[in-house]
Amino acid sequence: MGILVQKFGGTSVSTPEARGHVVRHIDRERQQHDLVVVVSAMGRSGDPYATDSLLALTGESGQLTARERDMLLCCGEIISAVTLCSLLQGQGIESTVLTGGQAGIVTDHHYGQAKIIDMQTAAVLKHLQQGKVVIVAGFQGRTDTGEWTTLGRGGSDTSATALGAALQAVRADIYTDVSGILTADPRFVENARPLTHVGYAEMCNMARQGAKVIHPRAVEIAAQANLPLRVRSTFSEDEGTLVSGPLQASAAVQDRHVTGIAHVGGITQLSVQARDQESDMQLQVFQAMAKHGISVDFINVTPSGAVYTVFDSDAAQALALLRGIGYDPQAVHSCAKVSVIGGGMNGVPGIMASIVEALTLSGITILQSADSNSTIWVLVREEDMVPALRALHAKFELHLP
Ligand code: ASP
Ligand code: MG
Repeated sequence: MGILVQKFGGTSVSTPEARGHVVRHIDRERQQHDLVVVVSAMGRSGDPYATDSLLALTGESGQLTARERDMLLCCGEIISAVTLCSLLQGQGIESTVLTGGQAGIVTDHHYGQAKIIDMQTAAVLKHLQQGKVVIVAGFQGRTDTGEWTTLGRGGSDTSATALGAALQAVRADIYTDVSGILTADPRFVENARPLTHVGYAEMCNMARQGAKVIHPRAVEIAAQANLPLRVRSTFSEDEGTLVSGPLQASAAVQDRHVTGIAHVGGITQLSVQARDQESDMQLQVFQAMAKHGISVDFINVTPSGAVYTVFDSDAAQALALLRGIGYDPQAVHSCAKVSVIGGGMNGVPGIMASIVEALTLSGITILQSADSNSTIWVLVREEDMVPALRALHAKFELHLP
């Protein structure tokens, strides 16, 4: 029997009914696999044991040292894990709970944002050999000195793929409240369609560009270990989307150039002109941003200036910093980054032409663009975002199977 990792997100464990579905998925898979089950804290903000609710316990001031805050946050996943364990035991399914640290997830000392530095699988393997379902509290680890740490928001996905990689699992199944990866956000594109397979690079790009179903860091770990993932719904029997490397790709996947369209809003475009004879403008601008922790994107540097984007929430500070070092920056607020993603577009002529055609015919101005071998990004005004998603989805015929 190979090892299978199942990860259940917050909404999958938030109600007795949802937990009933979780037990059903566990009971089905344990017939064929040794099971490691990773859980998130129960529910969303407002639910009693959700991560945001625990954070709210620290009061208005939010004053608490990072080490102690991580101890508080770890409780959410532990409560969730123990609740599920009691359900399983109630049904006669032998199971045990491990904290992230007990499961051998060793991290650095960066509280709130810890990086995994080692995976010690002995404890998990011992319990699996005893025939138990091993439930691991997600989102957490321990340092080499035994301190409790958390892996950053959304970190349970990372726990799951790190365990899958270290245990050489056959697969990690990420159970969530949507039916898998879709060609676009169904709230904006009515005929968005579920995908049966996406590659790791495509998935990473989608996850980074706003598709929130799985954390990009978790996908990167899976890609490095060549661990197949399945993104699927807790509330159905549908198998969802397989995320894997090209070896497992079906012919249909290799044939398509564009896989999906993703988007992120809330972006400001900044343009800075170099002064006459100035040679270190780029250095000054990007050092100022870095020094104040402002993350920059869509960077376009020419000898005469720089154009780049920041989050709308950082725009006022970025503008003030630029003015402070003597520049007169231009800003376009409320933009959106629309990503056309496809592992099959590399070296294929005409993809950019199709994008430009679709957007131009819809009267949409492209403010900026960038590309990698599996994604072309365009920056548009936020009011053009939904029309852009629809135009591109139609242009690349993503509604067709
Ligand atoms: N409960 C944590 C969070 O809300 C971790 C997770 O859900 O993945 O960020
Ligand atoms: Mg999540």
